[in-house]
This record gives sequence, C-alpha cells and structure tokens, in this order.
Amino acid sequence: MNKTFSTLRINQDRFRSHFEALAKIGGTAEGGVHRPALSEAHLEARRWLKKQIAQAHLEIKIDGAGNHHALLGCGPQDGTGLLLGSHLDSVPNGGRFDGPLGVLAALEVLQVIKEQGLSLKVNLEAVDFTDEEDCFVSYMGSRALTGDLKRHDLQNPSKSRDLFQQALSRAGLTESGILAAARDPKTVAGYLELHIEQGNRLIEQRKDIGIVTTIVGIRSRWLKFLGRADHAGTTPVNRRRDAAQGAAAFTLAVRDLVMKDFPDSVVNVGNMEFAPAAFNVVPEAVKVALQFRADENNKLDRMEKALLEEAGRAAQRFGLRWEMAPLESIAPVDMNPKVQEAIIRACENLNLSYVMLSSGAGHDAQSMASIGPAGMIFVPSAGGFSHSPREFTEWQDCCNGANVLLHAALTLAH
Ligand SMILES: [Zn+2]
Repeated sequence: MNKTFSTLRINQDRFRSHFEALAKIGGTAEGGVHRPALSEAHLEARRWLKKQIAQAHLEIKIDGAGNHHALLGCGPQDGTGLLLGSHLDSVPNGGRFDGPLGVLAALEVLQVIKEQGLSLKVNLEAVDFTDEEDCFVSYMGSRALTGDLKRHDLQNPSKSRDLFQQALSRAGLTESGILAAARDPKTVAGYLELHIEQGNRLIEQRKDIGIVTTIVGIRSRWLKFLGRADHAGTTPVNRRRDAAQGAAAFTLAVRDLVMKDFPDSVVNVGNMEFAPAAFNVVPEAVKVALQFRADENNKLDRMEKALLEEAGRAAQRFGLRWEMAPLESIAPVDMNPKVQEAIIRACENLNLSYVMLSSGAGHDAQSMASIGPAGMIFVPSAGGFSHSPREFTEWQDCCNGANVLLHAALTLAH
C-alpha cells in the first residue's frame, strides 16, 4: 500500500452518528432493534440509507431483489466493482450491530475514498442485501445477485406464501424482478464484509480482529425414533417401547460425542415432535430436529456417521426403530486466500492484533464467494451475545473494523 493510503482513516464521528441514527429505526425498549426483512421498520431503514447515500453524493442503484447499492466511480467505466456490504434487516428483537455495522462501514469507506479523490483499479460499491436473516428466504438478496436463487426457493418461503407476497408488494418487489437480479460475475471484482463475531473467541484470545478462513457447513436432518403406543398407566415401564426415551438418550449422548470427538464443531437438537402426544399414552414416535455444523465436508461426513451410530445405539437400548430424512446440506465455504492476505496486511498496517478463525454463522459472503473472491472481517462481540438486544461491540472495535475494511479494500482495489 502506498504512503498516502496507509495514513487514511475513516471519519469516526460521522460513522458514529450514522450508527446511532440507524439504531433508532425499529429500536426496541431493551436497546436492540426489531427490523425483520421487508417490515415497515426495515423499509424505513432503507429509505434512511438512500438519503445518506444521496447526501454523500454517491450514486444509488436498487436491483430487482431490492439490494441497495451505493456506487463510487473511482475506477474504469466498465461497471466492475469491488463490493463491500452486509444487511440492514434484523432477526425479531435482535441487536443493533449484526448487519448495520458492515453496511455503514462500507458507506464510510466510500465516503473517505471519494473525499480523497482517489483513482483505483476498480469501482467501489457499498451494498445492503435483502433478507439476510431468513425472514422469508435465506440470503435472498445475495443469492439473487449471484444467480443461485431459483423460482422454487421463492415458492417455498420460511413463512407463508401470502405473508411473503404481502411483504414483496410492500417493498415494491416482484418474484420475476428478484430472479432477474442476477449479475454478470465479470462485473464483481470481489466482496468484503465487516461483521461482529457473534461469539466469544476474539474476547477470550484478546484479539482486535478476526479474519475468517471458512464459513462452516450446516446439515439439518429429521431423525425419527419409532416405538409402540401403549397405555401409560397399565404398561410396566420395562415393557415399553418408548420413543421419548430414545430421543432423550440420543440428545444427551450427542452433546458428549461432539465435545469429545469434534471439539471445534457444534450439534443442536432444536425441536422434538411427539406422537400421539398425550399425557396418558406412551409416545409411539418422536421426530427430532437435528442440526450440526463443521468447517470441512469430510468432518461433516464423519460427524454424520457418528451421530447416526449414536441414534442406532439409543434406538436399540429402548427397543425402537429409527429413520433419518435429510433436509438441507450447506457445504462449508472457504474465504479467498488473497482477500485474507489483504486483511492481514490491513491489520499489520493499523497495528491491530488478529487471529484466523472460522465463522459458525452463515453470512452473505458465502453466496458472494461463488462469483468472486470474498472475505470477512470480524470484530469482538462483548460476552459473545448476538441475535439479542444484549449484542454489544465497543465503539473502538467498530472503528478498528471499519479501518481494516478501508485498508483491505484499498489493497484489493489498487
Ligand atoms: Zn448478520
């Protein structure tokens, strides 16, 4: 990086006043925000963002998926841009940092570079993606942009089709418009995202910055334990084929299994559905919502095998049968080594300590990685809290992250 670049910093006061103004939109009494995708509050936040982009004298482009782009033409006039971004939507009753930090830092980076009048090899874009948090369709905006989103995904939203249609019309979006938002990958020079860690590792290791190596893969499975319905008053306990016992034994066993054999991975039993589901009937069937995450495909394969062996043991112990139905498998996504290198150089130039780590949560960067070099910068989350009003990141850490974004973007765009 040349000398002029290395002394550049974001404008902390402007960044903070943007952050505080935005946190008021959909702000909750507990100090968080409630801005589910395409809700009134989310659309208000986007109107506010448009105003800031206009006031910064940047060009604005809204694509068919509703993604809001601020454009800085600091490179050749071929429409190619290095994208910096995140999302303004939140989970219900979420925190103020998850998403907005990355969008506002991106806007700040564009403003600083514009003020300096710098010419770069590529143009810069700050982007706010639609529905990152899976209110309707997970990573809808970024997957539409990369062309990965299909009509089938729009026809099977997480909420009812009616609610989705209402939300789309509120936002002025259409399904055909969303599907037409795919962008020529040649126009995307890369993608960088600043985000809070949403975990405890940076705080525990006393590091300023996390550089993401991989976004973990996720597998979701329905496991079914099948026994026999019996009278809960007259059947002796030792003669039952009680599906609840199998499901419970399995749940306890997989915690130990993962802690012992896959210590850097996670497993979750998130739901159980009992049938016939009555006080006075021994459960005949229990459906278990199982999800596990790891940073490598072969680790996911080994975990799956070990978890299913555990299901077999739990079933056998209580005289049950078991079945497994695959639901969703998302492969781990590696972040680009050159982008990681640019982030390392930014940390070194700014004298910030850093550590390489994987992300246990999904992000738009995983879609963007399919069409260009992508990378992520994490800043510490106090207490590791996220998706909650307790979400908090020290302001100095937010500014450190935004400066790393600025320097990494300059390295990649120069
Ligand atoms: Zn997020």
